[in-house]
Amino acid sequence: MITLDGIRKTYRTGSLEFEALCGIDASIDEHEYVAVVGPSGSGKSTLMNIVGCLDNPTEGTYELAGEDVSTMSEAQLAEVRNRRIGFVFQQFNLLPSLCAWRNVELPLVYAGLPRHERRERAIGALERVGLGDRTEHRPGELSGGQQQRVAVARALVTEPALILADEPTGNLDSRSTADVLDLLDELHGTGRTIVVITHEPDVAARAGRNLVFRDGQIVSDTSSARAVAAR
Ligand code: ADP
Ligand code: ADP
Repeated sequence: MITLDGIRKTYRTGSLEFEALCGIDASIDEHEYVAVVGPSGSGKSTLMNIVGCLDNPTEGTYELAGEDVSTMSEAQLAEVRNRRIGFVFQQFNLLPSLCAWRNVELPLVYAGLPRHERRERAIGALERVGLGDRTEHRPGELSGGQQQRVAVARALVTEPALILADEPTGNLDSRSTADVLDLLDELHGTGRTIVVITHEPDVAARAGRNLVFRDGQIVSDTSSARAVAAR
């Protein structure tokens, strides 16, 4: 699903250069559940931006589902993102003026689906995350955990092969954290590839594999007993 080969990312700030990723080689198979862990500043978000087709690497190649995306233009990347990837962020990133189903239908608007089909699928996605009774609520009328479940519904509404979650439970209490992790497990169970960035050991423990980052490099790549047992 994901093949990273010699990925480097250099940021330039004025005359300063900083290498945030120093040669990443990794592959993630279809249907894996991988947690990316490591201290703040180690390059996790930089990697996620590349894997999520939000940014190009400075060097190296990235293949997503057999397509070389490392040299694509902004417009091509946007198309690949919308077709293949569902995103979940720490800050939910919902539009406050739109109700839940309007937020969830957004990726379908970009995909050009007709309105009645968008609404039906958005409501179906909200039902899947247990929010069938909150479809007309705006984000400000929902708890943090409910907002993140709306974000998960938005991520799954296009049925993407890959779900990328960046600190998805960073703003949630333990009850809502468990709900969101259960949803990610469920999505994994339906065949999605899941990649989650996290600081939290409990969240990392749900994944079958942990990639540990330090100073822009992968310093450890371990599969859990659970993942080995499932093979
Ligand atoms: P993490 O997600 O592990 O906290 P990041 O990928 O956000 O790490 O950051 C890795 C390093 O790259 C940090 O030292 C950070 O300061 C630097 N960095 C990240 N984004 C930028 C940017 N847009 N411009 C300059 N430096 C950046
Ligand atoms: P929590 O107990 O998780 O912090 P809240 O106390 O914020 O949640 O909300 C409890 C319930 O009330 C939630 O199900 C939420 O959907 C609903 N709710 C909260 N604020 C509003 C509002 N302004 N308008 C309508 N419903 C709301």
